[in-house]
Amino acid sequence: MGIEAALPTDWVLTTQLQRVINWARRSSLWPMPFATACCGIELMATACSRYDLARFGAEVMRFSPRQSDLLIVAGRIGIKMLPVLQRIYEQITEPKWVISMGACASTGGVFDTYATVQGCDQFIPVDVYVPGCPPRPEQLIEGVMAIQRIVDQDRIPPRGPDGKRVPLGIALQPGAAGVVRPVGLTVGA
Ligand code: SF4
Repeated sequence: MGIEAALPTDWVLTTQLQRVINWARRSSLWPMPFATACCGIELMATACSRYDLARFGAEVMRFSPRQSDLLIVAGRIGIKMLPVLQRIYEQITEPKWVISMGACASTGGVFDTYATVQGCDQFIPVDVYVPGCPPRPEQLIEGVMAIQRIVDQDRIPPRGPDGKRVPLGIALQPGAAGVVRPVGLTVGA
């Protein structure tokens, strides 16, 4: 999967090279935003200067799944949109990770109706759940950092015996206090 497939397993430098690959990979996550509702506004704010997702190398939002490795599902998903979400997930290059952002993406939220998917994890594997309605940008950044930690630990998304992707299912703490970053600027006299 990815560049690892080209590495000889008995190479003495393989371990160190793997670390470099992990570092490069976690420092250049390219998100594919699947923003369908209000959570998408918080997702946009995360990339703005106040929160500056670029500090984590993840600001390059790609609107082509073939150029992405991190799917961020932000907002409720209608039944009619579900095939689109699944197709986008399938088209994202391996290795890939998924963040479910907000109550609607993870559970359907308050939209307990036949027309709303009651959790995207019923149809695609979710690695990190970011709670909230909506989650603040700081919480989404925590979600991105959780993905970075996974990549750093060399945890290429596992697959089951049937070849299907096994979701990592990491849930962030809902009570995690957001820290405003960066701190406010003071203009000197
Ligand atoms: S979780 Fe809340 S903010 Fe996010 S899409 Fe649903 S209703 Fe909107």
